[in-house]
Amino acid sequence: MAKIPMKTPLVEMDGDEMTRILWAMIKETLLTPFIELKTEYYDLGLPYRDQTQDQVTHDAAEAIKKYGVGVKCATITPNAQRLEEYKLKKVWPSPNATIRAALDGTVFRAPIVIKGIDPYIKNWTAPITIARHAYGDIYKGSELLVKAPAKAEIRVEYEDGQTETTPVHDFKGPGIVQGIHNTDSSIRSFAKACFNYAIDTRQTLWFATKDTISKTYDHHFKDIFAELFESDYRAKFEALGIEYFYTLIDDAVARVVRSNGGFIWACKNYDGDVMSDMVATVFGSLSMMTSVLVSPEGNYEYEAAHGTITRHYYQHLQGKQTSSNPVATIMAWTGALAKRGELDGSPELTAFAQKLERVTIETIEGGVMTGDLASLFKGEAKTVSAQAFLIAIAAKL
Ligand code: NAP
Ligand code: MG
Repeated sequence: MAKIPMKTPLVEMDGDEMTRILWAMIKETLLTPFIELKTEYYDLGLPYRDQTQDQVTHDAAEAIKKYGVGVKCATITPNAQRLEEYKLKKVWPSPNATIRAALDGTVFRAPIVIKGIDPYIKNWTAPITIARHAYGDIYKGSELLVKAPAKAEIRVEYEDGQTETTPVHDFKGPGIVQGIHNTDSSIRSFAKACFNYAIDTRQTLWFATKDTISKTYDHHFKDIFAELFESDYRAKFEALGIEYFYTLIDDAVARVVRSNGGFIWACKNYDGDVMSDMVATVFGSLSMMTSVLVSPEGNYEYEAAHGTITRHYYQHLQGKQTSSNPVATIMAWTGALAKRGELDGSPELTAFAQKLERVTIETIEGGVMTGDLASLFKGEAKTVSAQAFLIAIAAKL
């Protein structure tokens, strides 16, 4: 059988620990036997990031901007303990944060839905995609413990020396104060990424904030979304028969629970952080969430939502069998390959990616799966190792 050719390389970002092992297995078992795999390889494994003073992460981000599509393995975000473990030169920043900052992107997370693994909310029959604004608010906040008595205010000083102030609180006793911000440009990028992704995936888009209470801050998000929708997107949405729908965050939560899924839920940074964990849990497992970073220019970076599965890696190093689930990492590859095929006008590459997704799901629905899913599966499940699972998929392919 002739292998499927590729025109443009994918930006391939290797990673750490158990997922680095899964990465190599997936390529060997499911990709290179079928495709003439073309990638530009960046090793984002922690040892090489350290060796290059993290330059490799910045280079990978630039490569995504150049080629338009990247696929990333999970990576360690170093902390004090990793500094010691890997004898690092310093605590390098999170690669995901570096790439997100370079692409100014929005992260879309969606569960992989399997027949036989029922969500805790039984009417959620289609996946819910969370679009999380990945800049600002409390994640770039400044905070102070306040000793009383004290007056706290927000003060803005313009370049020409003019100032504006607004009182926060007159403290009679001790307390706390917080200052947060966002920028029009980041909110507009977020809105654009959401509208474009809704069009790409032909799904209705929901957005919700607390604008009744936060009459300036949250209301500004709502206004920017509404303006952009009217000026650039309404006609495209109508042509596809999809909708943009704004509501209050409390109302959104109630509606989401009662819904059947099948839409994108755009969330401010904190709401997205919390709600994506909730959605992942309701659908069954963190190991079954995919994640794609989309920039306003239309660059795409695909990855699994989970981390490097450290606990399994240490078991693996002791020669023990682990039940690490490769599905989200497979879906990162299929997402990237399908997008590459679409951008290159290479329908056979896109078709292969879609077939691999379907066969992966069918393999699980047929009762063959890793241990983490076996406990959730309604029906007879044969628990296999990651390697055996990949071989079962390859055989079906
Ligand atoms: P994790 O790697 O997501 O794993 C947490 C636990 O979830 C695992 O111990 C395992 O549970 C379960 N799990 C997650 N993915 C699984 C899979 N594919 N198959 C089977 N079980 C799975 O999170 P972590 O242990 O908190 O973090 C490990 C490292 O990953 C950290 O260094 C962190 O910095 C990094 N991280 C990277 C990313 C990224 O690159 N996007 C994201 C998050 C974390 P059991 O132990 O119960 O089997
Ligand atoms: Mg979180």
